[in-house]
Amino acid sequence: MTLDDILNEIQIAEKIVILTHEAPDGDAIGSSLAMKLALKQLGKTSDVIIPEFSRLFSFLPGAQEIMQESSIKEYDLAIALDCGDLKRLKSGEEYFETAKRKIQIDHHGSNTMFGDLNFVNPASPACCEILVEMFEYYGINIDKEMGTCLVAGIITDTGGFRYNKTTAETFEFTAQLLRKGVNVSDIYKRVQDTKTRANFELTKLVIDRMEILEDGKVTFTYITQEDSKKNGAEVGDHEGLVEIGRDIEGVEVSIFIREKEDGTYKASLRSSTYVNVADICLMFGGGGHQMAAGCTFKESKEVVKEKLLNEIKKVLK
Ligand code: 5GP
Ligand code: MN
Repeated sequence: MTLDDILNEIQIAEKIVILTHEAPDGDAIGSSLAMKLALKQLGKTSDVIIPEFSRLFSFLPGAQEIMQESSIKEYDLAIALDCGDLKRLKSGEEYFETAKRKIQIDHHGSNTMFGDLNFVNPASPACCEILVEMFEYYGINIDKEMGTCLVAGIITDTGGFRYNKTTAETFEFTAQLLRKGVNVSDIYKRVQDTKTRANFELTKLVIDRMEILEDGKVTFTYITQEDSKKNGAEVGDHEGLVEIGRDIEGVEVSIFIREKEDGTYKASLRSSTYVNVADICLMFGGGGHQMAAGCTFKESKEVVKEKLLNEIKKVLK
């Protein structure tokens, strides 16, 4: 499977849908919108379907055209972006499954290769960075609008150029866009620094409840459904909460669990240097990256904490 095969699928398709993972972040939304712009240059119209996303991303070019659902039930081609497995597509899953051809482009090490064509590079810091490589190969002009979407994804997934998968290419590409007039500083401020009021209120709870365990190497904290309701939390308002524990000196693994509307707990794990949290989450049916991963539990928060701690303890040095 090569980039030419993907281009061929795009060229023969008429009705194209672009999909991404649930609770979409800057990389998910940025890559979806950049793909739509790239398809336009290839002479193709497409639908981006994202049922819910944080209003903090509505500044991205093309965000107003995002659809919550579509009346088309059978697309010629579905392109899934930044999504490691089929069930994470959530409500997009139906469009993906019914599409005649399925492509997925991603950077999760735990990717299950659920497309007909799979372009997966776990070494890439962001799905958006994979798209840069693809678009350059296709001779697509990465203009200011597309660049804004791509940089938003790169900043999100590199934690603002901080994580260790950030490469020289990441900076070089960003520098090129800066020269083209992309306002990197403004994008950085919007996707990395700006917090909603609900997120701020949840941050206070998360810090107050933070338990520092295992000789200071692990942190645990949580948010219940009641907390989310009380603070009017919407999709995206739990972003960043897991990173608070990880950033404490000496902490290797941070655990943040959040009760969802259906009573299940969504766990988010982050590691600082050596623990592979994707491996831990895979044991519980989830996945992700070495240093950022997640999974879902049906048990109580006490049991979830116990189960995760048990596995983490085994790999702590
Ligand atoms: P977060 O903790 O921010 O929700 O997710 C961290 C990373 O792990 C993201 O890259 C996300 O896509 C991935 N991830 C989170 N939850 C799951 C899950 O349940 N299954 C899989 N396969 N990946 C997940
Ligand atoms: Mn990503």
